[in-house]
Amino acid sequence: MVGELKRGMRIVIASHNEGKVDEIAELFAPFGITCVSAATLGLAEPEETGETFVDNAKLKARAAAIASGLPALADDSGLEVAALAGAPGIHSARWGGHKKDFGLAMQRVERELEATGATDRGARFICALAFARREKDTIAFQGQVQGTLVWPPRGDKGFGFDPIFVPDGYSETFGEMEPALKNHLSHRMRAFELLMLATYDGGKGEG
Ligand code: IMP
Repeated sequence: MVGELKRGMRIVIASHNEGKVDEIAELFAPFGITCVSAATLGLAEPEETGETFVDNAKLKARAAAIASGLPALADDSGLEVAALAGAPGIHSARWGGHKKDFGLAMQRVERELEATGATDRGARFICALAFARREKDTIAFQGQVQGTLVWPPRGDKGFGFDPIFVPDGYSETFGEMEPALKNHLSHRMRAFELLMLATYDGGKGEG
């Protein structure tokens, strides 16, 4: 597997979520790997029919690799709230409705959390990253970051549920933090480190 990702390669990021694409492009930049988004290439978004983050990441990466002919990376991620038995989990994007309104999605999390009467405000972000090449097996790695939910939302950096999530050991929400600090601590970074350990070598790739 080492050597599948190389300096000089161009890969497609199988996501139409700009926040995610930007974060992933920043993670790859120091390794000399250029990212192009599925939206830029006009690729269709496959239906997320998997039952886990890993299943959904794999099906998105595979579809993009087949459609584009380029190596493809997909991210499937979400927020798991302990007192909500792990919801919204793999359905996190859907809690924003068809308009992907995360103000509403955050309100729903808070409303459902209050309705349980639970004092436990623990939550974690999970990220599965899958890497696919047309002619090879698709591989996936998962990372997580533990934290606490706050209300009201704070900060306008980041995306999705960032304004209500404070990672353990910090007092700012992901929405208040400098993107470089979020990128250093995040579930996405943890999955990315595992991916790079398994696949990267610094030599020049064919792209
Ligand atoms: P999907 O992986 O595209 O199905 O959607 C993941 C959803 O989880 C996003 O739309 C966000 O709502 C949420 N999510 C995933 N990662 C993050 C993050 O780093 N910050 C905030 N929200 C996130």
